[in-house]
Amino acid sequence: MRNRSRVTRRRVVVLSLVAVGTLLLTACTGGSGGAVATVTRQVTAPGHASSSGSPGAGSAAAPTAGQTSGRGSTGSSANPGVPASGVPANDNGGVPAGGTEPDGFKITKLKRGEKAPQFIVFSFDGTGWDAKWQYWFGIMQKVPLHFTGFLSGTYMLSDATKDKYTGPGHATGKSSIPWDAPSDIPVEINNLNKSISLGNEVGTHFNGHFCDDNVPGGNQWDSSDWNNELDQFFSLVRNVDVNNGITAKLNIAAAEIKGERTPCLTGHKADLYPALEAHGMDYDSSFTRTGLSWPVKSADGKIWEMGMSEFPMHGTGHPQITMDYNFYAQQEPDTVAGGAAPSPAKSAADSAQVLATYEDMLKAAQTDGVNEPLIIGNHFNDWNNNAYSNAVGNFALAECGKTGVHCVPFRDLVDWMNAQDPAVLKALQNHQSNLGGCPYLKWPKCDGLIRY
Ligand SMILES: [Zn+2]
Repeated sequence: MRNRSRVTRRRVVVLSLVAVGTLLLTACTGGSGGAVATVTRQVTAPGHASSSGSPGAGSAAAPTAGQTSGRGSTGSSANPGVPASGVPANDNGGVPAGGTEPDGFKITKLKRGEKAPQFIVFSFDGTGWDAKWQYWFGIMQKVPLHFTGFLSGTYMLSDATKDKYTGPGHATGKSSIPWDAPSDIPVEINNLNKSISLGNEVGTHFNGHFCDDNVPGGNQWDSSDWNNELDQFFSLVRNVDVNNGITAKLNIAAAEIKGERTPCLTGHKADLYPALEAHGMDYDSSFTRTGLSWPVKSADGKIWEMGMSEFPMHGTGHPQITMDYNFYAQQEPDTVAGGAAPSPAKSAADSAQVLATYEDMLKAAQTDGVNEPLIIGNHFNDWNNNAYSNAVGNFALAECGKTGVHCVPFRDLVDWMNAQDPAVLKALQNHQSNLGGCPYLKWPKCDGLIRY
């Protein structure tokens, strides 16, 4: 029987509908990781760039030189920015034209007149649930898919060690998402290390998942608060072994963590982006965009804006933020408000509608000439009898691997865009936003006008 708490479970949460607030900050208390409130241009993880990622929860994973999953690297922990091909890293430390990403995707430059690849970026917020890791590892065995997981830093602590985190403006040890048991942590580390070894990307979903239902959160935080959250995130990742009295470590260098999505899609660019820049990060996927379009950089040219699309819900024309919780709130508002769960048949119908919306997006992208990238965002969740997990899984199974379709992490898309001739990229970006058939003058009120 599913009640509301079951629905929201531990990984997650409340999403993007909401918002608001304000706040102040609290000093970073990094626990045994030290009081790392320092913001550096590039937060590094000295001595922690690698680990053997030993399988088996709780088993020791001694740091092993040469095992880092450095960007585009097959081995050098000394310089994760150097791709395996030996081609020097680009300005952002990413893989340049001619190089190969950790997942095998090759960065190439478009020739004049050549059509852009069709990118589909699958991304998940939280990524702290073993069963869902196994589900996605299973799908990766069936189709060529790599994805981005935005890790919640609190999954690097447990209810026994939660006092090592203090969210900006909150009491020590508090979080909007439940704390794991100590025994969950080695399992999570093992899954993350497996994901990294397969070529997936790790980003951040920040830590305590503070939104408007538990202010202060993203909508209230200023730059110093975001810096505090990021400092703590990197510290939690770097010090997961020491903080929890275990030997398992995460097999990732801080420099490989280049992007984020904020909890509940909250926050303001003016506050958030300076903190991203201070931490050497490349992209944001928090702020939704109207229709499909090629991403552009922030006003100062430093942050790629890779938000999800608002796009007509299949069969309705209703503009919809195309993320799981937003679909859920639209399709089953009573359940989201605490009512009974939908019937399995209704959940199946909801799932089919979401899948059809994804297919609409892909068709729209592929038929307007520029193959706008699809940014697909979900949490690890089982909401609505797994309607959203199944929809995104079925979409991956249906499309990844088709000719010209590349299901890759944000990292690969960012590097690909950075590698293009500026004029070629500009032409893609200047293409009118694709509203999936909704007339521009009708947006966002195009109900009943749908097309695919
Ligand atoms: Zn979230």
